Amino acid sequence: MSKVVLKRGREGRLRAGHLWVYRGEVAGIEGAADSGLRPGPGPGDVVDVLDARHNFIGRGFISPTSNILVRILTRDPAEIIDEAFLRRRVERAVAYRRRVAPGVESCRMVFGEADLLPGLIVDKYGDLVVLQTLTCGMDARKDAIAGVVRGILKPRWIYERNDAPSRSLEGLPPRRGFLLAGLGGGDGPPGTQFEISENGLRFLIDVDMGQKTGSFLDQRENHAAIEPWCPGARVLDAFSYTGGFAIHAAAYGAAEVMGIDISGAAVEMARRNAALNGVGDRCTFAVANAFDELRGYEAAGESFDMIILDPPAFAKSKRAIEGALRGYKEINLRAMKLLREGGVLVSCSCSYHVTEDLFMTMIYDAAADARRQLRVIEMRTQAKDHPVLLAVPETRYLKCAILQVL
Ligand code: SAH
Repeated sequence: MSKVVLKRGREGRLRAGHLWVYRGEVAGIEGAADSGLRPGPGPGDVVDVLDARHNFIGRGFISPTSNILVRILTRDPAEIIDEAFLRRRVERAVAYRRRVAPGVESCRMVFGEADLLPGLIVDKYGDLVVLQTLTCGMDARKDAIAGVVRGILKPRWIYERNDAPSRSLEGLPPRRGFLLAGLGGGDGPPGTQFEISENGLRFLIDVDMGQKTGSFLDQRENHAAIEPWCPGARVLDAFSYTGGFAIHAAAYGAAEVMGIDISGAAVEMARRNAALNGVGDRCTFAVANAFDELRGYEAAGESFDMIILDPPAFAKSKRAIEGALRGYKEINLRAMKLLREGGVLVSCSCSYHVTEDLFMTMIYDAAADARRQLRVIEMRTQAKDHPVLLAVPETRYLKCAILQVL
């Protein structure tokens, strides 16, 4: 097995439990791969990571083309990375969900690093599992992983949703489709639209065209958290996608719900979802740019009892933080002005680079400029099936602040 040797003094973060070895931290790679014929480890090979004194730090998959050269899987020098290892880790991940999300039908079963399986995502939607293998190590073992998942979760179908842009950094091509290993029953794969259940409500998702693996499972608990503020409310869901927050609001008793999304396909699906839950008469969805609509509502003198802001990640890199904060501040400021006294703002950011501190400072600045007094009802994050690995801050990405205008 090849050995990746760190530069002096670069082991601290890894010893504390981080799983990523950056290329710039590595002094050199020693030893030939498996057969001894190749000059070095190939994409996805298992390598040992050693500190500069050759003490064992961990063992993981190498990604020769990526800036993150190794992702550590185990810190136990005796542990072998094989199919049995993958099965143990997936079993542990599923056991965790049985504790924190018992009986939840649509649930993220494996959340990469936070389940000590960097590069692997497993989302379960009832009888369907959607798989993402985002690193060359995981991708090379895709069939074995599908077999493990099939044995543990017993889905009828396994769909591979491997078109995340990050795969290109690993030299992996985009791929989408049903994986044979998951097929059961013999009636063949269905289309790519499925009905799922979330908090007792019904949602159509499209595993092929939808965002992420089809749904924002990370918002499940936040969708439910708006309930106390919904009865009788006039609600605006400004980045509504397929109606996650909007339909929960209507089901929780909102008098009128308006959803806005820039994607026509998302709006179409949101309308179908509203009808599916019998709340179509209280929901209207429009294809529009939320920035323009918020400005338009202000000019028209409109007001709301609840506004939900759940935009896409405005900051995808460190360099984009400043521009992102300007965008977040603009929509938050406008929403605050549109809220009636006692009204509730549900403000989210899924940009990892915008930390909770930066996010709350932005909200503070927006409130000051809007001349509104707000109190924080709750500071929330991603649902518990998307846990945070303490030593890997990158696993904590979602902020969801619920505030009330006084
Ligand atoms: N709240 C949703 C998820 C929202 S994802 C849920 O809980 O399911 C973010 C959405 O914002 C995407 O559907 C995207 O199409 C939409 N979007 C991106 N830019 C937008 C803009 N300028 N105006 C309105 N919607 C936008």
